[in-house]
Order: sequence, then C-alpha cells, then structure tokens
Amino acid sequence: MGNTLNFKRKEATVFTKKFNQKIRENFNLEYIAEEDKDVEEFRSHFILRLEDNISDKNGNVIWNIQAQSYIQEDYPDSVNSYLWRNAKEGMIPGVAELIKGKVYITTGISVAPIGYIKSTNGWIIQDTGSSVEDAEVSLELLEKATGERVRGHIKAIIISHTHHDHFGGTETFLKYEKEPEKIPIYAPIGYEKSMTNDNLSTGIAMARRVQYQAGVFLPRDDKGYVSMGLSNTPYIPGRISSVFPNELIEQDKTLELDGIEVDFILTPDTETEAHMVTYFRNYHTLYLADDAVGTIHNTYTMRGAQVRDANYWGEVLYKLYLDYGEEVEVIFAGHGIPLWKTEERPDKLKRFLLDNAAAYKFTSDQALLLANKGYNLNEIGNAIEIPESISRTWYTRAHYGNYTFNARGAYQRYLGFYDGNPVHLLPLPEKELAEKFIEYVGSFEKVLEYAKRDYESGEYQWVATVTNHLVFANPQNLEARYLCADALEQLGYQAESALWRNAYLSAAIELRNPGINKKRKFNAMANKDYIAYVSSGLLLDHLGINFDGYRAETEAVADANIAPLEYLNGNLQFALQIYEDNSFEHKLETHIVNIYKGTIFHWKEEENSSIDEGKNPVVKTTRDGVYRLAAKQYQENKELFYSKRLDILEWIDKYVVDFSAYTNFNLIEPICLS
Ligand SMILES: [Zn+2]
Repeated sequence: MGNTLNFKRKEATVFTKKFNQKIRENFNLEYIAEEDKDVEEFRSHFILRLEDNISDKNGNVIWNIQAQSYIQEDYPDSVNSYLWRNAKEGMIPGVAELIKGKVYITTGISVAPIGYIKSTNGWIIQDTGSSVEDAEVSLELLEKATGERVRGHIKAIIISHTHHDHFGGTETFLKYEKEPEKIPIYAPIGYEKSMTNDNLSTGIAMARRVQYQAGVFLPRDDKGYVSMGLSNTPYIPGRISSVFPNELIEQDKTLELDGIEVDFILTPDTETEAHMVTYFRNYHTLYLADDAVGTIHNTYTMRGAQVRDANYWGEVLYKLYLDYGEEVEVIFAGHGIPLWKTEERPDKLKRFLLDNAAAYKFTSDQALLLANKGYNLNEIGNAIEIPESISRTWYTRAHYGNYTFNARGAYQRYLGFYDGNPVHLLPLPEKELAEKFIEYVGSFEKVLEYAKRDYESGEYQWVATVTNHLVFANPQNLEARYLCADALEQLGYQAESALWRNAYLSAAIELRNPGINKKRKFNAMANKDYIAYVSSGLLLDHLGINFDGYRAETEAVADANIAPLEYLNGNLQFALQIYEDNSFEHKLETHIVNIYKGTIFHWKEEENSSIDEGKNPVVKTTRDGVYRLAAKQYQENKELFYSKRLDILEWIDKYVVDFSAYTNFNLIEPICLS
C-alpha cells in the first residue's frame, strides 16, 4: 500500500520498523548490563523519590511527571530503541545521597542536577538549576529528604559554566541569607564573554534553532517528543536569575571553602568558552559539569555556536583521569547519572574518565585523518566509523550529540566550511538551484513522482533532500511539503540522537502546517535576564549587530541631510557616559563611540583619561539604556538618556532593526520577510 500524502502524522513504515527492530536484536548485551548496573546503583542512593506532580501555592501543577507517563516499558516502532531506553532511564527524579551525610544532588527537577556539599558550618552549592522556581523546589526537597536546614546556611556557590540550566537559580540560594552579598559565587574566567556569545549576539537565530532541537512544539507521545537525550525533566517554567559571580577563577587552584578543600580546574572551550570542573577533596567527589554528560555531547551544537575543540576536550578528560583517577570515589556531572567506585568495580571511575576522553578525541583525530586522506566535510560525516567500544558504551552513546556531526565539527574547527572546491566558493541560493534542477529534470511533477517512488523503497534521506528542493522552488505546493515531511518523520523515528529526532519532527510539523510558526509566541529579545551579566562594551557590540549599517550608509550617501552632519566626514564620534541610574549622578564608565561607514566602533576609556568633552558630544545613559537602544526600545525609554545631541540617538534608532518581526523565521522552507 502506497503512502497517502496529507497533513497527518504517519506510523513507522516497514523500513523504520525493521530498522528499530534490528537495533534491539543487536543490542550489545554487555553494555546494556553495565548500564543496568549503573542505574541500579544510582537508584540505591536515593533518599527521596518523587512520584507525584508538584504544585505551586495556588494549586497549579508546575512539575508534571504524569505528562511523561507515555514512556512505558514497550519499545514503540516510532522511536529509536537506544533513545527509548535512555528516555526511560532518565526518569528518576528525587534526592540522591552521593556520600553519606555529606554530598547530595537533586535530580530530574531541573535539566541539570543541583549539588549540595556539606561544609563545616553550612553548605556549598554546585550549580543552581535553570530558574529561581526550580531551585526553590530543589531546596525544599533536599531539606525534606535530609531533615537539615540549608536555607540561611549557604557558605559558597559554584557555577561551572554559562548555560542557564547551571546558573538560573542562583538568586534562590541567596535570598534566605542574612548577608547575601557576602556569599562568594565562584565561576570560571571569561564568564561574561562566554555568556554573551551563547545568549546575546545571535540570540534570536539560536533561539529559533533551539525550537527545532528541543522539540518545543512537538506533541508528547511516541510519535513526537520523547526526550532531550540528556535527562527527562518535566519542565518547570521560571525566571532566570540575574546574579553575576563575584569570584572569577583565573587559573587552576585549590581553595578552602568553609573547611572543604576544593580544586578548581578550568576547562575552557569545551561545553562553553568559560567552563570549569571541581573536585571536593574531603569527599573524593569530582563534578565534571558538562564535560561528560552520560552521552556523547555535541562539540558542534545544532542550535549553533562556535565549534569546540574535541581534541582538547579529550585531553582535558585524560588529564582528569591522570590526576584523579586513583583517588576519586564519586563522579557526578551536569547531566546523566552519578557513578561510584565500589569494591566490585574498583576501576569504574577510571574507565568512565578514559572512555569519555576517547569518545571526544577519537572522533576529532579520525575526522582529521580522513581530511588528510582527501575526504571533504560531508564525506567525512558519512565515512567516519566509530568502534562499538565507543559508540555502544552506554554513557558515550549518541542519544544527545552525534558522532558524524562531531566529526564534521572537527573538520570545520580546523579547516572551516569551505572544502577547497572552487564551485563551492559561492554556491547558488537554494531556490535558484532548485528551480534549475527541476527544469533540467523536466517538471516539478516528474521530480515529485520520482520522489514518491523512492519513498516507497525507504530512501528517506534522499527523498527529504529532493522534496526540500521542491519546497524551496515552490513552498505553496502541498504535495511536496507533505512528502518532505513524511520522509523527515521516518528519519526522526530512526534517529538515535534525541536532538536530531526533535529537529526532523519539528520540520515535519511546519511543512504540514504552512505558516504555523508565525503564530507562535516567542520573545528572544526580551532576554533581559542576561543583561546583568554583560558589560557595556558587549552591549555596544550587540548594538552594532542590530544596526542596519548598509541602509544607514547608503541613505546617508544618497541624501546628505539624513544623517548627523559629522557622519559623512567620518567624525561622528561621541562620549557615551554610563551612569548608575538616570539621575546621572554616579558615572560608572565612559566609552568613545564612532559610527563610520555604517559600522559602530567603540572603545572603553581608561578611568582617568577623560576624552575631550569639548570636542566630542556627550550622551549620558545607563546600562539599561544601552540595552534599550540596541533592542529598539529607545523611543519608549527616552528618560534613560540625556544629551544636547539627541539627534544622534534618533538617527541611530532609525536604523536599529526591530527583531520582533524575525523571531520565527523559516528554516525548512524559503524565508518569507513580508
Ligand atoms: Zn548543561
């Protein structure tokens, strides 16, 4: 029976069924047994298991475990069987005692666990959850499970890196303290820059891509979202707190925090630009943050970010193996489950560190070996072979990241996106290319007919490719959209990586429902939560990105009256003075700003070398003001600015792009800007 083209979700085809069945038939039982043992061990450390929903004071369910109840024992045909195993194993929310009476985590409540380390007079918190709300739930559970008071007794907070699932709850841990400003909050050097790169500079593009990889709009069932591949956490909607760390770790060191010796080990440019792991010496406990996460991580992330150096990542883990392999007794990490050294398995943790090290470094090395043999970017993705000892060891399986993706990431890291073939120096835009190909084949219908035939023989990647050409040539054609969606859906049902699955299935939804993304509410530009972490200089960079320099320059050239007088002479330079608030009494810093040929330059002045304010116009504002200007909110916030040259600000504002029109742009079909 042939495939019927319509907007409905489809069952797994015979090919997909067989694909997933074959995985189960070939399950490597040795690795599965190891996984079961590790999970069993983890369960035995629980002192509180969460089995019911959690509601807030008003009775609203904020953590809904029942919403995950479709993840049952049986393997569905529509989910990769390894991924399904992972989705099931991730369902262990509660409080675990890692070291008796000393080290605890709450898990399954926020995306990343929160660590509680007992110190002489109180507690050290390791990573603070995603939001103030989920941190609150975590604290409450921890106190309930241990019978101890944590609130009001926090001695230090450590934040491993700049992803909000690791720092979002900081405010909650401070709010019960008598003198919160005295609590040291440790974080790795480069925190602010790392934060900006990940959250502000390409905030909208990244946020839109996250919708795909996280499956934000997928139904929760076995033909939709089953997991993020990390842990299966019912989502607690909440606010990300804005507390900047007050103790930046500049180099590896050991500090005593309320009687606990803590090794801080910087691992920059792994999961994030600023990243560090910690070792609690008194308890022989190593926290790896996102350097090992119970699955292979993305070294090039699908939401988009600078490619990490997987070679270095592997070396970092190897060094941890050398330094701590013998003495460490417990390892916990930013995701995945903790592991213990036991009498039965004395080498467990050494192997864990070494296995993870190999998973990263092997992929990078072999990708570059292929590159040197002449394989290009895409060929490497298809040609790289990962031995089963790496790809099937359960905590380095690809249910989050993906080895082929990481291999291509390694190529890009070292060689960039250009493959050396001059045909690819500036490829034709997708639409033009598609139209030409269709013309050469004969007609749109003919291509569609071929694609239908190939769908019936299970060639889903090819069918998705060719029908996507059709969609780009004519996004109105529903048959092409439906067939592309059907092919992507089967790819999704087969994908081991949850992120790949989510992306395939998200694209399928958008193809089946033309225009649906326009209706979705989405406010990336409201990410003011991050502003507290970002310097004025980086906010000015942000302004530079949001400034339509081409239009500003060409309009000024065409009409000399349109821009401030000094602009065309290259002298549009002003002193931007940043004040504490808009009483403009306490000046914090001064930046020289120069707008030249549509480009915004800026430089922070040294404290005492005041620029000649007689020669340069002065603009007074606050940090919030700079952000508002960059976010196209100048007109509503004029009280945040003072200047005799408001015409400069008006002119800048004219060219700042209002991003609210761009938030849900197309990915799987041509972009439509109308
Ligand atoms: Zn994380």
